Amino acid sequence: MIKSLLIANRGEIACRVIRTARRLGIRTIAVYSDADANALHVRSADEAVHIGPSAARESYLVGEKIIAAAKQSGAEAIHPGYGFLSENAAFAEAVLDAGLVWVGPKPASITAMGLKDAAKTLMIAAGVPCTPGYLGENQDPANLANEAGKIGYPVLIKAVAGGGGKGMRLVEAAEDFADALASCQREASASFGNAHVLIEKYILSPRHIEVQVFGDSFGQVVHLFERDCSLQRRHQKVIEEAPAPGMDAATREAVCAAAVRAAQAVDYEGAGTIEFIADGSEGLRADRIWFMEMNTRLQVEHPVTEEITGQDLVEWQLRVASGEKLPKTQEELSINGWAMEARLYAEDPAKGFLPSIGTLELFELGKTEGGRVDTGVYEGAEVSPFYDPMIAKLIAHGDTRDLARERLSDMLHDSAVWPVRTNAAFLINALAHPDFAAGTVDTGLIGRDGEAMATDPEPSAEMLLDAAMALVAPTLAPGFRLNAPDRRVASFLLDGERVEIELDGPGSDEPETSILIAESGKVWQLQPWREDGTGHGHAGDGTILSPMPGKIIAVEVIEGQAVTKGQKLLTLEAMKMEHSLTAPFDGVVAELKAVAGAQVQVEAVLARIEALTE
Ligand code: ADP
Repeated sequence: MIKSLLIANRGEIACRVIRTARRLGIRTIAVYSDADANALHVRSADEAVHIGPSAARESYLVGEKIIAAAKQSGAEAIHPGYGFLSENAAFAEAVLDAGLVWVGPKPASITAMGLKDAAKTLMIAAGVPCTPGYLGENQDPANLANEAGKIGYPVLIKAVAGGGGKGMRLVEAAEDFADALASCQREASASFGNAHVLIEKYILSPRHIEVQVFGDSFGQVVHLFERDCSLQRRHQKVIEEAPAPGMDAATREAVCAAAVRAAQAVDYEGAGTIEFIADGSEGLRADRIWFMEMNTRLQVEHPVTEEITGQDLVEWQLRVASGEKLPKTQEELSINGWAMEARLYAEDPAKGFLPSIGTLELFELGKTEGGRVDTGVYEGAEVSPFYDPMIAKLIAHGDTRDLARERLSDMLHDSAVWPVRTNAAFLINALAHPDFAAGTVDTGLIGRDGEAMATDPEPSAEMLLDAAMALVAPTLAPGFRLNAPDRRVASFLLDGERVEIELDGPGSDEPETSILIAESGKVWQLQPWREDGTGHGHAGDGTILSPMPGKIIAVEVIEGQAVTKGQKLLTLEAMKMEHSLTAPFDGVVAELKAVAGAQVQVEAVLARIEALTE
C-alpha cells in the first residue's frame, strides 16, 4: 500500500479522499491556490503546498505545478479527484513518467473514452448499444444541419470534449439549429478548448442510468450496480440515487453486464462510470438503454453506491493503484436498502440559479439517522467565484426509497446557510414532487416544473412573529402604529423588502438589531424598518448589478427601451457558464452601462430599470 498521497483537487472531493487516506494511515498532501489558502481541504491534510493564483488554469489545472508539489513533498502517489486534471491523459502520463503512482486508469483508457465521438465508435465495435447520431469529422455548419435533419428532430448537439453538462444544446426544430450550434461551439471552445461537436438523437422521456465499474491490474472488472441520476437541471445532476427505481433484476443484469464489457474493452483499471440513457416511456427495458459515455474517474455521486454496498470506493481506488486485487468479487457484492444524494450549491434559484458568493457566516447542515454529509467548507469559510459552486453533498440511506427520501428532505429542512444563498429549498421541493416521489422522473422534469420548485418559500407566520418580537423593546418604539387598542403593527425589513407584522405581547428586554430566520432550508434576515432608510437593500430598486466577476458577452436592450418583467437584458459569462440577467419588473431601461465584451467586477452597476408607473 502507498504511504503518502497528494490530492490534486479541492473542495469536498479533496476532503473525501483525505478522510479515507487518513483512515488507511497514508500521509496526505493538499495543494491550494491563493483563494483556497484557508480552505477545509488544506486544514484537513497533513501538509499543503501552494500552487499559484486563484484561477484554476493557473493552479489546479497546471500539471507541472502539481507534479512539482508531489516531488517537493515526497508524495508517492497522486489522486486527481474529479474535474480538473482527472480525465487528462497527458497529465496521467506525466505523473507516471515522473515515477509517481497515478490513482486512476491507464492513460490509454482515458484517451479511448476521452472524446465522446471516439468513445461511441469504440463501443459500437464492442457491441455496446449506442444512441443513433452523427459522429463525423465534417464540422461544416451546413453539413451538421443536414445530418441533424437526417437523424430527425429533436436532436442534441454535444461538444465531443464536453462534460459536466456543459457544451450541450437541445434543438427542437431546424430553424433553431444554426444559433444553437454557434452557442454550443462558443461554450465548448471557452470551456474545453475544442469546438468539435457530435449530433445525437434526443431520447424522449430520457432517464439517466449509470453503472459503477471497477477494474484492477489483474484484468478483473466488477460492477457495483447502478445509479439513477435522472433529476437534472440543464443536464447537470441535482439528486442521485441507488438503486434505480423500477429496475428489475433481469434489466439490471443486462445493463451492468454491458457496463463491464465496456470497461473491459478499454482494459480498465480503477473506478469508472458507464453512463447510459434510457427511454423511460414504458419503464426501464434492457433494449431501450444506450451507452452515452464513460467517466474515467470517481464520480461526484459515488457516495450513494458506497451507502448501498457498504464499500469505500476511495479505499478501493487506493488499493488497486497500489497493485492489490479488487477487494471483493462480483458474488460478494450486493445491494442493501436505498440511498439518495442531493447536491447543495451556493446559488440562488429565485434569481435564475446565479452563483452566490461570500463568507459563510452561518453554515449548518442537517443531521439524521442514516445521514451523511460530504463537504469542502466550514462556517466562516469563503465561497469564492473561482470554482464550482457545489459546497456540500447531503446523502441519506434507509431500508426503502421513501425512507431515504424522507431522511434527505429532513436534512435539507434542518440546513441553514447565510448570507450565501443555496438551493436547499429547491431540493426539498424537488424531493416532494409527485413524479420524483413515484420514481418516474425523466431528465426534463425540472425544465417543465422547475419554476415552481425555484420559487422561494415564505417564512411561517409563527417564525416571523417570534423573530419580530425579538427585535422590539417591551415599550412601544417610535414608528410603531397603534391601529386598535390592543394591536401593535410594526414595520420590518425582510431580506430588503418592507413588511408589516402584527405584534403580540411585550417585546424583548434586550432587543436584537437583526435576526436570522431559518426554516425549510432557507434563511431570511429580519431587521427593524427605519424611516431614514438605513438597512434599505438594493432589492427592488431596479439596479442590475453584476452578481460576480465575468465578461459581458451580449447586450439585448438599448437605453430608453421598454422592457417587461423577466425580459432578458444581457448575458454574462462567468465561471465558464452563460448567465442571463433579466428585468426585475416592467419598466424602461433608464441607464445602460454594460458593453458587450467588457470585463466586469462583482456588484458593478450594469443597468438600471425604472418602473413605468413612477
Ligand atoms: P456530460 O458529459 O456533459 O455530462 P452527457 O453526454 O453525459 O454530457 O449528457 C448529460 C445529460 O444530458 C444526460 O444525463 C442526459 O440527461 C442528457 N442527454 C445526453 N444525451 C441525450 C440524448 N441523446 N437524449 C436525451 N438526453 C440526453
